[in-house]
Amino acid sequence: MDIKKIYEDADALLSGHFILSSGHHSSNYLQSAKVLEDPKKGEMLAAELAKIIKEAGIEADTVCAPALGGLIAGYELARALGTRSIFVERKNGIMELRRGFEVKKGERVIVCEDVITTGGSAMEAAEIIERLGAEVVAFAALANRGFCKRYGTENTAKPSCKLPKDKPFFSLADFEFDDFLPEECPMCKAGSKAVKPGSRGN
Ligand code: ZN
Repeated sequence: MDIKKIYEDADALLSGHFILSSGHHSSNYLQSAKVLEDPKKGEMLAAELAKIIKEAGIEADTVCAPALGGLIAGYELARALGTRSIFVERKNGIMELRRGFEVKKGERVIVCEDVITTGGSAMEAAEIIERLGAEVVAFAALANRGFCKRYGTENTAKPSCKLPKDKPFFSLADFEFDDFLPEECPMCKAGSKAVKPGSRGN
């Protein structure tokens, strides 16, 4: 499956000058929502991800996604794996398990995002789940922004990757884009103003 082509065809691989959730700037951005607006594509990508996870021998009871970005990917992955689907969300900036969702002691959970950059939100989700007594068995994302090591590749994680080394991270493809600290960004130096994707129609 050519996931890069799927993102390109859906106009989900954006070019411009963007502020990432990490605060860094990049000339590319993955807008997974544009791919997932076609439920058939969401279902197909999640089925492919589920296949890799099953082949690796990972068994899970539940998929947990950090809202909002991971919601659809997590829900479709849970459907493909035949597990429960829950999500965590921010309240006053702090990630919480709300809406009556519960996890049991020892419950095996996969934390799923649409895109994992450094894995910050995924780790916040994992910490809550584990604090409540469940066990995070793996991380998953449709796309890997190239900072973390995707299961099945020989790449090494970059120092900024926050995912733990002792748990597998499953993803369909690596997307490696340029990435700049704001003060070192050549686009800023050239006078361009960075935009936050998702706002103002981006
Ligand atoms: Zn910039």
